[in-house]
Parts: sequence; structure tokens; C-alpha cells
Amino acid sequence: MALLEIKGINKVYGGQGPGGVTALHAVDLRIEAGEYVAVMGPSGSGKTTLLSILGAMSTPSAGSLLIDGIDVYGLSQERQADLRREYLGFVFQGLELVPYLTALENVMLPLAILKEKGKPERALESLERVGIDERKARRVPAELSGGEQGRVAIARAIVNDPPIIMADEPVGSLDSATGRQILDLLRELADEGRAVVMVTHNPESTEDVDRIIRIRDGRVEQDSRQDARQDARQDARLLPVEVQPMASLHTR
Ligand code: ADP
Ligand code: MG
Repeated sequence: MALLEIKGINKVYGGQGPGGVTALHAVDLRIEAGEYVAVMGPSGSGKTTLLSILGAMSTPSAGSLLIDGIDVYGLSQERQADLRREYLGFVFQGLELVPYLTALENVMLPLAILKEKGKPERALESLERVGIDERKARRVPAELSGGEQGRVAIARAIVNDPPIIMADEPVGSLDSATGRQILDLLRELADEGRAVVMVTHNPESTEDVDRIIRIRDGRVEQDSRQDARQDARQDARLLPVEVQPMASLHTR
């Protein structure tokens, strides 16, 4: 069973009548645990809309969303919110850190609903995981570099330990070395068995992904798996390659 599945998704903004914009047309997708997926496509093609539908942040005009086999829109609003909290972590386009809160407070936001103690500890753990120490955790975003802000946004996305991570252009504004650190972190999260769905413009950002979904005008244009990373890993481990004797192909 897929961890995430959408069937027949349409999304129309601004009503069905004239003036309505159809951002997604009959989109079907299945995404498995452990998959690192890039969503690519021109500006306005529907990437953010697709991510928000996959992440149950936006209601489709038609179609269904199953998370871990659970039909999300068959649930009450309250149960939908519970499901989102339990299953999903988001890195938003532009990161959307709250400017007047410290890094630590930003990371604690998804925990706000929880009554239990230990929230700062959990947030600090999450920040440590992405390489932000306690001293930097006390700073507001403007006092951190772009790369550090990106890492704080990831810490916030994983603080609830969700099995699914959505990231909308997480390295859009970063230089390539800093962006690489963020992409490596996302790869690690997928290697832990999470599904990671990342929107990106940049082909360089897709080097380590398992799968690339290209969308155009609200439709899936191409959906391809790649094992570039696995090849690279195997190359590193197995070289020199053992050569099979060609003769064996001919023996009878
Ligand atoms: P992308 O992320 O690929 O740039 P979006 O998903 O943001 O694309 O947008 C897809 C289409 O839907 C575009 O035509 C955009 O103008 C339109 N759109 C997106 N959000 C809204 C909205 N809230 N209201 C009306 N139209 C929207
Ligand atoms: Mg977008």
C-alpha cells in the first residue's frame, strides 16, 4: 500500500464558472515510504497546488487523498487536523519562519497543540539533528544565515517525527553549497523510510532523488524513476567491477 495516494484530483480556484482557474486536471499519484520525489515544472504549472493537496493543506475540487490508506476527506475536520499533525511535515516556499520568534520557538510551533512537557527539549533535539546548536537556537531568523534558516525550517518540519515531508522549493534562495546541505538532509530523511516530496526548478537539485514528476498546465507530463544515487553508491563500493567471463554466455 502506498503511503500517499491521490486519485482523480482536480483543483479549480475561483469557482467552477468563467474566471475559474483549473490548476490540476485529473491527477493520480502514488508515493511510497522511503521515496525521495522531485516535482518539477514551469512557474504556474501547479506544483505548489499539488504539494498542498498531497499534504492535505488544500481541499481538492474533486478526487480523493489517501494517507497510509486512510481516506482523508472521509474524516471530520478535527480528525483531518490530527492526521496532518501525525503524518506530515512542511517546509514552505520562502521558508516562512516567523521573524519575531527565535529558531527554537519556530520549531516549537507544530508542538504548540501538545499539552505534554518537554517541548523545548524536543525542539532542541530537532535543531541539533540539522546542525543548529543551542546558542543559535536562541536567535531570530534575521540573525541566521540563509542556510541556517533553511535548516531551522527542516527542524520545524520534522519535530513531530512525521513519515511524510513536503518541501516547496527549499533551496530556491540558497547558494549551491548551502543548498546541497539541505538536499543531503532531505535524502537522509528519505533513507530513514520517510516519503519526501520536494518541489524544485533546478535540475541540479534532483541529482539524489529517486523519482522526478514533471507537471505542465496542471497535468503529470512525465513520471520517471532514477537510481543515480544507488549507482553512485554501488560504484564507490564495488569498484573494480568483477568481470563475468563472456564464455559463460555461450556454454550449453
Ligand atoms: P507553481 O507552484 O507551479 O508555480 P501554483 O500551484 O502556485 O503553480 O499555481 C497553479 C495555477 O493556479 C496558476 O495559474 C496560479 O495562478 C493559480 N493559483 C494558485 N493559487 C491560486 C489561488 N489561491 N487563487 C487563484 N489562483 C491560484
Ligand atoms: Mg510554487
